[in-house]
Amino acid sequence: MVQSNYERIIEKISKASGLERGEIERRVEAKREKLSGLISKDGAAQVIASELGISFENEKLKIDELLPGMRKVNTIGKVINIFPIITFKTKKGEESKVVNLWIADETANIKVVLWDTNLIELIERGKIAEGTVVQISNASMRDNELHLGSFSEIKPSEESLGEVKTEKVVRKKNIGDFKIGDNVSSRAFILQVFEPRFFHVCPECNKKVVQEGEGFSCTQHGKVIPQKRAVSSLVLDDGTNSIRAVLFHESLLKLGFSQMEDAGKFAEEKENFLGREMIFTGNVRNNTYFNTPEFIIEDLREANPDEIISELEKQ
Ligand SMILES: [Zn+2]
Repeated sequence: MVQSNYERIIEKISKASGLERGEIERRVEAKREKLSGLISKDGAAQVIASELGISFENEKLKIDELLPGMRKVNTIGKVINIFPIITFKTKKGEESKVVNLWIADETANIKVVLWDTNLIELIERGKIAEGTVVQISNASMRDNELHLGSFSEIKPSEESLGEVKTEKVVRKKNIGDFKIGDNVSSRAFILQVFEPRFFHVCPECNKKVVQEGEGFSCTQHGKVIPQKRAVSSLVLDDGTNSIRAVLFHESLLKLGFSQMEDAGKFAEEKENFLGREMIFTGNVRNNTYFNTPEFIIEDLREANPDEIISELEKQ
Protein backbone atom coordinates (compact mmCIF):
# COMPACT_ATOMS: atom_id res chain seq x y z
CA MET A 1 0.00 0.00 0.00
CA VAL A 2 1.13 3.51 -0.79
CA GLN A 3 2.11 5.48 2.27
CA SER A 4 0.32 8.75 2.75
CA ASN A 5 2.19 12.01 3.02
CA TYR A 6 1.38 12.13 6.68
CA GLU A 7 2.79 8.67 7.35
CA ARG A 8 5.99 9.58 5.58
CA ILE A 9 6.45 12.79 7.55
CA ILE A 10 5.86 10.90 10.79
CA GLU A 11 8.44 8.34 9.73
CA LYS A 12 10.98 11.05 8.95
CA ILE A 13 10.38 12.81 12.26
CA SER A 14 10.70 9.51 14.08
CA LYS A 15 14.00 8.70 12.39
CA ALA A 16 15.46 12.15 12.99
CA SER A 17 14.29 12.53 16.60
CA GLY A 18 14.45 8.96 17.88
CA LEU A 19 10.90 9.31 19.21
CA GLU A 20 8.40 6.49 18.72
CA ARG A 21 5.87 7.01 15.93
CA GLY A 22 3.00 6.69 18.40
CA GLU A 23 4.45 9.46 20.54
CA ILE A 24 4.78 11.77 17.54
CA GLU A 25 1.21 11.05 16.48
CA ARG A 26 0.03 11.87 20.01
CA ARG A 27 1.85 15.20 19.80
CA VAL A 28 0.30 15.89 16.41
CA GLU A 29 -3.19 15.23 17.77
CA ALA A 30 -2.52 17.39 20.83
CA LYS A 31 -1.33 20.21 18.58
CA ARG A 32 -4.43 19.92 16.42
CA GLU A 33 -6.68 19.94 19.45
CA LYS A 34 -4.94 23.03 20.78
CA LEU A 35 -5.58 24.73 17.46
CA SER A 36 -9.22 23.54 17.42
CA GLY A 37 -8.59 21.42 14.34
CA LEU A 38 -7.72 24.49 12.26
CA ILE A 39 -4.57 22.82 11.03
CA SER A 40 -4.32 19.68 8.89
CA LYS A 41 -2.53 16.57 10.14
CA ASP A 42 0.31 17.24 7.67
CA GLY A 43 0.56 20.82 8.86
CA ALA A 44 0.56 19.86 12.54
CA ALA A 45 3.27 17.25 11.86
CA GLN A 46 5.41 19.97 10.34
CA VAL A 47 4.95 22.19 13.37
CA ILE A 48 6.02 19.28 15.60
CA ALA A 49 9.05 18.72 13.36
CA SER A 50 10.17 22.32 13.68
CA GLU A 51 9.55 22.27 17.45
CA LEU A 52 11.89 19.28 17.61
CA GLY A 53 14.43 21.20 15.54
CA ILE A 54 14.09 18.91 12.56
CA SER A 55 14.23 20.44 9.13
CA PHE A 56 13.92 18.89 5.72
CA GLU A 57 16.39 21.40 4.30
CA ASN A 58 19.19 19.05 3.46
CA GLU A 59 16.97 16.34 2.18
CA LYS A 60 16.03 15.76 -1.39
CA LEU A 61 12.26 15.40 -1.30
CA LYS A 62 9.99 13.56 -3.69
CA ILE A 63 7.41 15.82 -5.28
CA ASP A 64 4.50 14.35 -3.35
CA GLU A 65 6.37 15.07 -0.12
CA LEU A 66 6.35 18.80 -0.82
CA LEU A 67 3.79 20.38 1.46
CA PRO A 68 2.35 23.85 1.81
CA GLY A 69 4.49 26.04 4.04
CA MET A 70 7.79 24.17 3.53
CA ARG A 71 10.84 26.36 2.99
CA LYS A 72 14.33 25.75 1.62
CA VAL A 73 13.26 22.60 -0.12
CA ASN A 74 15.26 20.53 -2.58
CA THR A 75 13.81 18.27 -5.21
CA ILE A 76 14.42 16.75 -8.62
CA GLY A 77 11.99 16.47 -11.50
CA LYS A 78 11.60 16.30 -15.23
CA VAL A 79 10.22 19.43 -16.90
CA ILE A 80 6.95 18.37 -18.56
CA ASN A 81 5.61 21.77 -19.55
CA ILE A 82 6.93 25.32 -19.81
CA PHE A 83 4.51 28.20 -20.21
CA PRO A 84 5.38 31.45 -22.03
CA ILE A 85 7.56 33.89 -20.11
CA ILE A 86 5.56 36.84 -18.82
CA THR A 87 7.12 40.29 -18.59
CA PHE A 88 5.62 42.76 -16.15
CA LYS A 89 6.45 46.04 -14.41
CA THR A 90 7.14 46.00 -10.67
CA LYS A 91 5.66 48.62 -8.34
CA LYS A 92 8.91 50.54 -8.71
CA GLY A 93 8.44 50.53 -12.47
CA GLU A 94 11.23 48.05 -13.17
CA GLU A 95 10.76 45.39 -15.78
CA SER A 96 10.58 41.90 -14.35
CA LYS A 97 9.72 38.41 -15.51
CA VAL A 98 7.95 35.34 -14.27
CA VAL A 99 7.53 31.90 -15.78
CA ASN A 100 5.49 28.87 -14.78
CA LEU A 101 6.55 25.34 -15.53
CA TRP A 102 5.56 21.88 -14.38
CA ILE A 103 7.98 19.23 -13.19
CA ALA A 104 7.21 15.59 -12.50
CA ASP A 105 8.85 12.62 -10.81
CA GLU A 106 7.51 9.12 -10.29
CA THR A 107 5.35 10.23 -7.36
CA ALA A 108 3.56 13.37 -8.59
CA ASN A 109 3.91 16.64 -10.47
CA ILE A 110 3.91 20.23 -9.36
CA LYS A 111 3.75 23.77 -10.70
CA VAL A 112 7.04 25.62 -10.35
CA VAL A 113 7.17 29.43 -10.50
CA LEU A 114 10.43 31.18 -11.36
CA TRP A 115 10.66 34.82 -10.31
CA ASP A 116 14.35 35.46 -10.87
CA THR A 117 15.58 36.77 -14.24
CA ASN A 118 18.88 34.87 -13.90
CA LEU A 119 16.97 31.62 -13.50
CA ILE A 120 14.58 32.49 -16.31
CA GLU A 121 17.57 33.11 -18.57
CA LEU A 122 18.32 29.37 -18.40
CA ILE A 123 15.02 28.81 -20.18
CA GLU A 124 15.59 31.66 -22.63
CA ARG A 125 18.96 30.19 -23.57
CA GLY A 126 17.50 26.69 -23.93
CA LYS A 127 19.56 25.20 -21.08
CA ILE A 128 16.28 24.11 -19.52
CA ALA A 129 13.59 22.86 -21.87
CA GLU A 130 10.72 20.41 -21.82
CA GLY A 131 12.23 16.99 -21.07
CA THR A 132 15.18 18.36 -19.05
CA VAL A 133 15.67 16.77 -15.64
CA VAL A 134 16.28 19.63 -13.21
CA GLN A 135 17.59 19.86 -9.70
CA ILE A 136 15.93 22.53 -7.57
CA SER A 137 17.29 23.82 -4.30
CA ASN A 138 16.32 26.41 -1.75
CA ALA A 139 12.77 26.84 -3.06
CA SER A 140 9.64 27.60 -1.01
CA MET A 141 6.18 26.11 -1.10
CA ARG A 142 3.35 28.63 -1.48
CA ASP A 143 0.16 26.67 -1.17
CA ASN A 144 0.69 23.86 -3.62
CA GLU A 145 3.24 25.62 -5.83
CA LEU A 146 7.00 25.61 -5.63
CA HIS A 147 8.39 29.17 -5.85
CA LEU A 148 11.97 30.06 -6.77
CA GLY A 149 13.38 33.50 -6.03
CA SER A 150 16.86 34.96 -6.26
CA PHE A 151 18.21 32.71 -3.47
CA SER A 152 16.92 29.58 -5.13
CA GLU A 153 18.65 27.43 -7.67
CA ILE A 154 17.50 25.39 -10.65
CA LYS A 155 19.90 23.55 -12.91
CA PRO A 156 19.99 20.60 -15.28
CA SER A 157 20.72 17.35 -13.46
CA GLU A 158 22.64 14.30 -14.58
CA GLU A 159 20.12 12.09 -12.83
CA SER A 160 17.81 10.13 -15.12
CA LEU A 161 14.24 9.63 -14.04
CA GLY A 162 12.18 6.65 -15.13
CA GLU A 163 8.52 7.01 -15.93
CA VAL A 164 7.19 10.23 -14.43
CA LYS A 165 3.66 10.96 -13.35
CA THR A 166 2.22 13.41 -15.85
CA GLU A 167 -1.51 13.05 -15.19
CA LYS A 168 -3.14 15.71 -13.09
CA VAL A 169 -2.49 15.05 -9.43
CA VAL A 170 -5.65 14.84 -7.40
CA ARG A 171 -5.14 15.04 -3.68
CA LYS A 172 -7.63 13.72 -1.15
CA LYS A 173 -8.43 16.57 1.17
CA ASN A 174 -10.90 17.74 3.76
CA ILE A 175 -12.87 20.80 2.72
CA GLY A 176 -11.35 22.65 5.67
CA ASP A 177 -7.92 22.24 4.05
CA PHE A 178 -8.93 23.38 0.53
CA LYS A 179 -6.69 26.00 -1.08
CA ILE A 180 -7.27 27.98 -4.26
CA GLY A 181 -5.80 26.07 -7.19
CA ASP A 182 -6.11 22.63 -5.60
CA ASN A 183 -7.14 19.62 -7.66
CA VAL A 184 -8.82 17.63 -4.96
CA SER A 185 -11.20 14.85 -4.20
CA SER A 186 -13.33 14.94 -1.11
CA ARG A 187 -16.06 12.86 0.47
CA ALA A 188 -18.88 15.17 1.48
CA PHE A 189 -22.59 15.48 2.14
CA ILE A 190 -24.92 17.46 -0.10
CA LEU A 191 -26.60 20.03 2.15
CA GLN A 192 -28.30 22.20 -0.44
CA VAL A 193 -29.06 22.19 -4.15
CA PHE A 194 -29.91 25.46 -5.88
CA GLU A 195 -32.11 25.82 -8.93
CA PRO A 196 -30.16 25.60 -12.16
CA ARG A 197 -29.41 28.46 -14.48
CA PHE A 198 -29.26 27.91 -18.22
CA PHE A 199 -26.99 29.07 -20.98
CA HIS A 200 -26.54 28.27 -24.66
CA VAL A 201 -23.56 26.58 -26.27
CA CYS A 202 -22.43 25.96 -29.83
CA PRO A 203 -23.26 22.37 -30.93
CA GLU A 204 -19.89 22.17 -32.73
CA CYS A 205 -17.39 23.38 -30.14
CA ASN A 206 -19.45 23.48 -26.91
CA LYS A 207 -18.42 27.08 -26.23
CA LYS A 208 -20.84 29.73 -25.04
CA VAL A 209 -22.73 31.50 -27.83
CA VAL A 210 -24.03 35.08 -27.89
CA GLN A 211 -27.54 36.11 -28.84
CA GLU A 212 -27.69 37.97 -32.14
CA GLY A 213 -31.15 39.28 -33.03
CA GLU A 214 -33.41 36.23 -33.13
CA GLY A 215 -30.61 33.70 -33.34
CA PHE A 216 -27.32 32.74 -31.72
CA SER A 217 -23.81 32.98 -32.96
CA CYS A 218 -20.50 31.30 -32.09
CA THR A 219 -17.30 33.32 -32.47
CA GLN A 220 -15.81 30.40 -34.38
CA HIS A 221 -18.76 28.80 -36.16
CA GLY A 222 -21.00 31.79 -36.88
CA LYS A 223 -24.79 31.38 -36.78
CA VAL A 224 -25.70 28.12 -35.05
CA ILE A 225 -28.69 26.41 -33.47
CA PRO A 226 -27.47 26.27 -29.90
CA GLN A 227 -27.91 23.64 -27.23
CA LYS A 228 -29.20 24.51 -23.80
CA ARG A 229 -26.94 23.66 -20.86
CA ALA A 230 -27.61 23.83 -17.15
CA VAL A 231 -25.33 24.89 -14.32
CA SER A 232 -26.23 24.61 -10.67
CA SER A 233 -24.70 25.18 -7.25
CA LEU A 234 -24.60 22.80 -4.32
CA VAL A 235 -23.49 23.28 -0.75
CA LEU A 236 -21.16 20.47 0.32
CA ASP A 237 -20.06 19.76 3.86
CA ASP A 238 -17.68 17.13 5.24
CA GLY A 239 -17.67 18.16 8.89
CA THR A 240 -14.49 20.23 8.57
CA ASN A 241 -16.14 23.01 6.57
CA SER A 242 -18.69 23.66 3.86
CA ILE A 243 -18.16 25.00 0.36
CA ARG A 244 -20.23 26.07 -2.62
CA ALA A 245 -19.77 23.60 -5.45
CA VAL A 246 -20.54 24.33 -9.09
CA LEU A 247 -21.93 21.51 -11.20
CA PHE A 248 -22.27 21.77 -14.96
CA HIS A 249 -24.73 19.91 -17.14
CA GLU A 250 -22.92 16.54 -17.39
CA SER A 251 -22.25 16.41 -13.65
CA LEU A 252 -25.90 17.19 -12.92
CA LEU A 253 -26.92 14.31 -15.18
CA LYS A 254 -24.38 12.07 -13.49
CA LEU A 255 -25.76 13.05 -10.09
CA GLY A 256 -29.12 11.83 -11.35
CA PHE A 257 -31.15 14.84 -12.47
CA SER A 258 -33.26 14.12 -15.54
CA GLN A 259 -35.72 17.04 -15.68
CA MET A 260 -33.61 20.12 -15.26
CA GLU A 261 -35.75 22.49 -17.33
CA ASP A 262 -38.90 21.75 -15.37
CA ALA A 263 -38.58 23.66 -12.08
CA GLY A 264 -41.21 21.50 -10.33
CA LYS A 265 -39.55 18.23 -11.37
CA PHE A 266 -36.15 19.59 -10.44
CA ALA A 267 -37.38 20.45 -6.95
CA GLU A 268 -38.86 16.96 -6.66
CA GLU A 269 -35.72 15.18 -7.85
CA LYS A 270 -33.45 17.27 -5.68
CA GLU A 271 -35.05 15.76 -2.54
CA ASN A 272 -33.33 12.47 -3.47
CA PHE A 273 -29.91 14.07 -3.30
CA LEU A 274 -30.08 16.15 -0.14
CA GLY A 275 -28.08 14.54 2.63
CA ARG A 276 -26.43 12.07 0.28
CA GLU A 277 -22.74 11.42 0.78
CA MET A 278 -20.61 11.25 -2.36
CA ILE A 279 -17.04 11.65 -3.55
CA PHE A 280 -16.50 14.88 -5.47
CA THR A 281 -13.45 15.63 -7.58
CA GLY A 282 -12.63 19.02 -9.02
CA ASN A 283 -10.76 22.25 -8.88
CA VAL A 284 -10.87 24.90 -6.15
CA ARG A 285 -11.13 28.39 -7.58
CA ASN A 286 -11.74 31.84 -6.27
CA ASN A 287 -15.17 33.16 -7.10
CA THR A 288 -14.20 36.70 -8.04
CA TYR A 289 -17.71 38.04 -7.52
CA PHE A 290 -18.09 36.84 -3.92
CA ASN A 291 -14.33 36.58 -3.30
CA THR A 292 -14.81 33.15 -1.74
CA PRO A 293 -13.47 29.75 -2.78
CA GLU A 294 -15.73 27.53 -4.84
CA PHE A 295 -15.35 23.94 -5.91
CA ILE A 296 -15.75 23.38 -9.67
CA ILE A 297 -16.84 19.74 -9.91
CA GLU A 298 -15.32 17.65 -12.68
CA ASP A 299 -16.44 14.25 -11.49
CA LEU A 300 -18.55 12.68 -8.80
CA ARG A 301 -19.36 9.19 -7.67
CA GLU A 302 -21.06 7.24 -4.94
CA ALA A 303 -19.00 6.78 -1.82
CA ASN A 304 -18.27 3.08 -1.73
CA PRO A 305 -18.94 1.68 1.78
CA ASP A 306 -15.69 -0.33 1.89
CA GLU A 307 -13.74 2.80 1.08
CA ILE A 308 -15.43 4.69 3.89
CA ILE A 309 -14.73 1.94 6.40
CA SER A 310 -11.08 1.66 5.44
CA GLU A 311 -10.70 5.46 5.73
CA LEU A 312 -12.33 5.47 9.15
CA GLU A 313 -10.04 2.71 10.32
CA LYS A 314 -6.98 4.75 9.34
CA GLN A 315 -8.03 7.67 11.50
ZN1 LIG B 1 -18.60 26.91 -32.15
